[in-house]
Amino acid sequence: MTLTNWAGNTTFRARDVHHPTSLAELQRLVAARDRVRALGSGHSFNDVADAFGDPAGDLVVLDRMPDAVEIDRVRAQVRVPARMTYARLAPLLHEAGFALANMASLPHISVAGSVATGTHGSGVAQPGLSAAVSALDLVTADGSLLSLARGDADFPGAVVALGALGVVTTLTLDLVPAFELRQYVREGLSTDALADFEAIMSDGYSVSLFTDWRDTRVWLKRTDELTSPDWYGTTPAPAPRHPLPAMPADSCTVQLGVPGPWHERLPHFRPDFQPSSAGNELQSELLLPREHAVKALRELYAVGERIRPVLHISEVRTVAADDLWLSPFHGRDSVAVHFTWIKDPAAVRPVLELVEETLAPFDPRPHWGKLFTRWPSCPDRFRSLVGRLDPAGKFANDFTRILLRE
Ligand SMILES: Cc1cc2nc3c(=O)[nH]c(=O)nc-3n(C[C@H](O)[C@H](O)[C@H](O)COP(=O)(O)OP(=O)(O)OC[C@H]3O[C@@H](n4cnc5c(N)ncnc54)[C@H](O)[C@@H]3O)c2cc1C
Repeated sequence: MTLTNWAGNTTFRARDVHHPTSLAELQRLVAARDRVRALGSGHSFNDVADAFGDPAGDLVVLDRMPDAVEIDRVRAQVRVPARMTYARLAPLLHEAGFALANMASLPHISVAGSVATGTHGSGVAQPGLSAAVSALDLVTADGSLLSLARGDADFPGAVVALGALGVVTTLTLDLVPAFELRQYVREGLSTDALADFEAIMSDGYSVSLFTDWRDTRVWLKRTDELTSPDWYGTTPAPAPRHPLPAMPADSCTVQLGVPGPWHERLPHFRPDFQPSSAGNELQSELLLPREHAVKALRELYAVGERIRPVLHISEVRTVAADDLWLSPFHGRDSVAVHFTWIKDPAAVRPVLELVEETLAPFDPRPHWGKLFTRWPSCPDRFRSLVGRLDPAGKFANDFTRILLRE
């Protein structure tokens, strides 16, 4: 059977796919193979997860491994199996009185795959999902199990690691007390209001702008009620909205300011529906230092007419800095500029190149799980960590080989 990513734009070229059912079986499998990579839930838009290249390797999917979740109430932490999705994890945490500080736009993705690519939500005070990881276990090239925790020298290189160090089996995540949020959609944000970018993005727990580089709406997730009737010159959406204006809103989490649990408000999309445009799409995202946000967004509005023909919608978010070596937010508070494209790679590519060119003066970094054409440089300490843990390149594919080349 042909295996593809969620959007169907990448067909995996791995030789074989394995579903180990125990840690011991996974360790034997990794030790016996010359090339192997882990696949999460397959939601990346490029071939980062595939065991492709010359020679191709095997894929392992951990969806049949034991899936027990261990909550440590005293430390406010949870230890989760790598392939668990946020959709499964979040209600368990909520029932126990805990929450994750943030979530991505969709809960369908696996924890290990998400943190391996630096997946994020929005919020000026909220770092990416990888920053919640306090420890992880991974099966390394010889089949042995390596445990790393915050404070260990190699740990900041091992969380956002694109599967290049081994197969992560469990992760420990920091928790916060469960909380409620209200989600509002505001319409008609004018381009002039961009001057208030910092204030707008700071006026909620998580704030996203959805724009086609002409009309802009705001997704506002707040712990308290929004009382200002003409918030930044906008009007309230009279009915629930989908981020893609042409799509019906039934796949979206509850809006109109109705309070509800964190995991039913932080993601834009509900777990029981297909997210976004149900895979009829491609995605790219570039992360820039937040201080450049207003200038960079103005440059994109100026070329909006060239972007729109291949765009479903763009989303602008903020992400707080972290210290993870390969994280797109390493060392800098960031603005994330996202593009949900139509599913036409040939038509999208020149426009993606235009976007990359337009944003180049602002030192952009790409989202590892989405489409890009300009490669960032690899930190030397990550290259040497890969060299130490995987000297024969067992976990490499042609994606990581490009990144790691000197
Ligand atoms: C509709 C949609 C909406 C999205 N929204 C957001 C968003 O809001 N914010 C955002 O930042 N991103 C978003 N993304 C991108 C998505 O979060 C990333 O692509 C993420 O990596 C998906 O997780 P996954 O489990 O599917 O990973 P996969 O694509 O399966 O794998 C990604 C990487 O993780 C590695 N990996 C997976 N499991 C393991 C393991 N056990 N051990 C070691 N390495 C492993 C793989 O080898 C690969 O390198 C979105 C994607 C889609 C399709």
